[in-house]
Amino acid sequence: MGFCIFNNIAIGARKAQSLGFKKVYIADFDVHHPNGTQHAFYEDDTVFLFSTHCYPYYPGTGAKEEIGFGKGLGYTLNVPLRASTDDKTYIEVYENNFIDSFKAFKPDILLVSAGYDLHKDDPLGPMNVTSEGIKNITNIITKAAKELNISLIFTLEGGYNYDATAKGILDSIENMVNA
Ligand SMILES: [Zn+2]
Repeated sequence: MGFCIFNNIAIGARKAQSLGFKKVYIADFDVHHPNGTQHAFYEDDTVFLFSTHCYPYYPGTGAKEEIGFGKGLGYTLNVPLRASTDDKTYIEVYENNFIDSFKAFKPDILLVSAGYDLHKDDPLGPMNVTSEGIKNITNIITKAAKELNISLIFTLEGGYNYDATAKGILDSIENMVNA
């Protein structure tokens, strides 16, 4: 839809599978719904897609009723959130919806679509999440991978306030190092 020529995370998921990581869990906290990633794995039970995103919002997809199809039914989990959603709600969602589905799926690898446009100062994102909130979200994600003792890869997606994005990346790496 104009932002990506290649879908890094989808290609990464298939590459991981070709290397022997059979079950891939993708967590996507970019403020936009990952319509391309969802489409790629909508009928696939080997790749679980978890997404939090602003809804209704660009690109229009990501309703909670979109849960996969056929063999992939139940392997897509959309958590649409209203504009201005804050740290507290995000952290609750990651502590509950993310953790529960992550543990139930038991992936061999965790890929993260890390879009820092959920930050409150992002010019494209209408959310109200602070840098501290993002640090907490990425901490929950990195700890979950550590607990299952599986590999974790962050892929940079959106993020249009450079300071907020830089801080988010730095905090994510720090969480990975300290997990
Ligand atoms: Zn985005």
